[in-house]
Amino acid sequence: DIHPLTTIALEVIGEPDAPVIPLTSGLADDLFEHDGQLTKRDVRAVTLSALAPHPGELLWDVGLGSGSVAIEWLLRHGALRAIGIEARQDRADRAMRNALALGAPDLKVVLGRAPAVLADLEPPDAVFIGGGISEPGVFEAAWSRLKPGGRLVANVISLEGEARVTELFGRHGGELIRIAVSRIEPVGRMHGWRQAMPVTQWRVMK
Ligand code: SAH
Repeated sequence: DIHPLTTIALEVIGEPDAPVIPLTSGLADDLFEHDGQLTKRDVRAVTLSALAPHPGELLWDVGLGSGSVAIEWLLRHGALRAIGIEARQDRADRAMRNALALGAPDLKVVLGRAPAVLADLEPPDAVFIGGGISEPGVFEAAWSRLKPGGRLVANVISLEGEARVTELFGRHGGELIRIAVSRIEPVGRMHGWRQAMPVTQWRVMK
């Protein structure tokens, strides 16, 4: 058995028989090395749709985790750029490994906590907040640096995160959606729906 990341790496260097990465957003979760902190496939596809990458644009992925959102942003077009901000060294390293394995070596990883580390970064065209939105100043730092007309998308699963985006929705408008994905799993000899934690997504244009 060849590990999926190995086959992708082979694909990237032009090995003819290796599986091909699809061009659509929402790559299989198995393609990413992760520790459970991963925006899952279906939610990720919706997230990329909301981030709406245009050639030449820069994304900030705040709370990079395994890097899947920034990596899929970069894979959409050769002229896209992305900076991932991650507080934990092990996750920052893992995200960079995923970026290299999946053919997005241009990912820039900044190790540190938002909002402090955001101040020195180049202003983005789009911001994804996958972690840290309930911490004081994280939204404000991202929003103040986001270019006019830029998009900000935040995903939350906790009650505290939801309270925060509800408050921000009241102040800045935009769109709130809830994504509740269920998957079929074995129940004895039969099958049943297993509901993943619902994700609340706030999208707003500056
Ligand atoms: N979208 C990611 C998953 C994000 S999980 C993916 O698909 O892989 C949220 C991440 O945010 C965690 O790795 C956590 O360490 C990070 N995080 C939380 N608060 C943060 C902060 N204030 N600054 C930087 N990273 C933060």
